[in-house]
Amino acid sequence: MPELPEVETVRRTLEEKILCRPIQGIEVLYPRVLRNCEEGQLRDALLGRQFTQLDRRGKYLICRLDSGDRLVIHLRMTGRLIAVPRDAAVEKHTSIRIHLADELDVRLVDQRKFGTIDLLQEPGWGSIQGLKGLGAEPLAEDFTPAYLAEQLAGRKAAVKSVLLDQRRIAGLGNIYADESLHRAGIYPGKPAGEITEAEIERLHQSIKEVIKEGIAHRGTTFRDYVDGEGRQGGFQALLRVYGREGQPCAACGGPIVRIKLAGRSSFFCPRCQGE
Ligand SMILES: [Zn+2]
Repeated sequence: MPELPEVETVRRTLEEKILCRPIQGIEVLYPRVLRNCEEGQLRDALLGRQFTQLDRRGKYLICRLDSGDRLVIHLRMTGRLIAVPRDAAVEKHTSIRIHLADELDVRLVDQRKFGTIDLLQEPGWGSIQGLKGLGAEPLAEDFTPAYLAEQLAGRKAAVKSVLLDQRRIAGLGNIYADESLHRAGIYPGKPAGEITEAEIERLHQSIKEVIKEGIAHRGTTFRDYVDGEGRQGGFQALLRVYGREGQPCAACGGPIVRIKLAGRSSFFCPRCQGE
């Protein structure tokens, strides 16, 4: 699933291409991609308008229109948002095409079809449940060791589960949570409330580092992810634990282990992240 660095990379690569080009039409090939509006309503909101700004919050992309309306896009599991020439072959799992001036298309291609688009016509995030309750951005100033400590304090849940909770920290998913915990030397299943002050300092630092490096390398392509120009990311080559079951730990040489935690795979080094 695209996480913060992947969505940020999509944002950056699309920004150069799609801003300030009049929207000439839309084709909805998978109507359920639209969560809170019908195709006609979306067409009315978009036709003749243009995107003026592309923002990201957590794993959400927010496309601002010159009307003040916003399109809120979540790629979920396998969504790929790409800008391609309008005459490019339409891939099998294309959910929507937005036709821009200069024969350019923005397309959401989504094999698993969990990706969503919301049309937001009022100020604020009101109707979009996931957006309005998002926690701090890992690279924002309000994400401090004290903030992280507050999120973990008194919780019996595994620290990894707390890191994945978007209401506490926005944008972390399975890959960057595992990588952060490895760098901080913390067992993913350790109860959040038992994380020490020194561990919190290290974890805070490693989350910021991993997210920054992920963005610098244009995200991680494990299966489906590509940026807005259809290119794969580069961070997969630098992963230290995620997806590396049985391979040697970069720090100690011991084998990386995979366990199930709250139904999700977690990769860690038992030696560096003592249970
Ligand atoms: Zn190790």
